[in-house]
Amino acid sequence: MIDYETLYSWVKGLPIVDWHNHLDMKALAEDRPLGSLYEVWVKTDPYKHRAMRICGESERVITGDAGEDERWAAWMRTLPKLVGNSLFAWAKMEMDWLGLFNAEAQSSREGTWIRELKNVSLAEWTPSKMLKKFGVEYLSPCVGAGELIGLKTSDLGLQFSSGEGLAPSEVRSPKSSCRVAPSLRMNAGDEISVEALERFQSADCRVVDVSVDDVSQLSAFNSQLSTVAAYAAAHGWTMLLHLGALRETSARLRAAAGPVGGFAGMRAPVDTAAVAAFLNSLEEEHNSTCSTCSTWLNNPVQNSLPRTILMSLNPEAHAALAVLAGSFVEEGVPGKVQLGPAWWWCDHEEGIRDVLEKNAAYGVLSTFVGMTTDSRSLLSFVRHDYFRRLICKWVAEKVASGAFPSDESLLRPMLENICYKNAHDMINHVEQVDHVESLNVSTRS
Ligand SMILES: [Zn+2]
Repeated sequence: MIDYETLYSWVKGLPIVDWHNHLDMKALAEDRPLGSLYEVWVKTDPYKHRAMRICGESERVITGDAGEDERWAAWMRTLPKLVGNSLFAWAKMEMDWLGLFNAEAQSSREGTWIRELKNVSLAEWTPSKMLKKFGVEYLSPCVGAGELIGLKTSDLGLQFSSGEGLAPSEVRSPKSSCRVAPSLRMNAGDEISVEALERFQSADCRVVDVSVDDVSQLSAFNSQLSTVAAYAAAHGWTMLLHLGALRETSARLRAAAGPVGGFAGMRAPVDTAAVAAFLNSLEEEHNSTCSTCSTWLNNPVQNSLPRTILMSLNPEAHAALAVLAGSFVEEGVPGKVQLGPAWWWCDHEEGIRDVLEKNAAYGVLSTFVGMTTDSRSLLSFVRHDYFRRLICKWVAEKVASGAFPSDESLLRPMLENICYKNAHDMINHVEQVDHVESLNVSTRS
């Protein structure tokens, strides 16, 4: 019977395609040596700040004027209390990855590595060195429409090491390269000009990320959104709909910690009727010509609905969204609309299992685009490994119970698609996927 170890051996070394994150393009382009472990790991991480506040630490040692030693000590007081939260699991994986403890040797003494951890310098690391070690093939930090203003065509294609510009870049090294391109970040009500869309297109943008806190915004801002969606459809971009964040909670914390301070909540489950009406309005919109660019002519689409990934902050909507996704399909585009990865507060074992179960039961699991970090930290690429371990554990349980067949020719392509190939094809606009061929390739050995 195929076990966890076998399943994990198939996917652990696959390249990483991280199609949505919040990494700083400028810092990536500058590729400077990193600072202290505190700076890289804790200083700007709203998840950790939230956990520290819940544990009663003062704002002074979280975002206030305390020195780094005091801030580090506050995080070290907090971490041992986080067993059960994914922050704890990620912390161990991140420190293991950096070589700051030996996971094998310490596995029976979980507390020891935390007590021994020091706020060391990470100057031996640069972003490009980390991306190479993680095996990142593609990454797409999201950027606001205004943040690419001033970018000239001649700025494009810079190497990371040049230290200039915000352009899509390639980290080149003797053994690997990583393609970095911005994705467009917008809120539902934003007016995005055609000039801005074209700027992103020439910067190799493949993804537009739309925050839709309240799904009533989908009809209220339909004209703005459908302009962007039509452009995305014409250019083979994927549209992410981030549904249901409750950003206004504590006014006190918002004032103290800023808009991404880690105090957002989740709204009630999204009204899928509003999402259906929006997707339908795009599908009903048939454009035969594009007034704005010539790419359109080489890349005709049938309607204004692009590939769409639905991400709900409230997991209670997962089943309804997975069902709805199957109402919007396109010939030759597997999983054109789909329930996306466990997002934000759902990014943990329970949330990931829920998305796998819902995509399997209500959709077609093998078309799922798997994982993206949605993170501000380079260390978060360990979460791809976290996801791969969890999906392998989940599949191993299904095989053991008899629910899934113990058959490499079926399981291996499914896992490879979810952990890598679907995201790769989405970004590279590979529309025609021949499942029979991929089955044959994977059973060659
Ligand atoms: Zn995001």
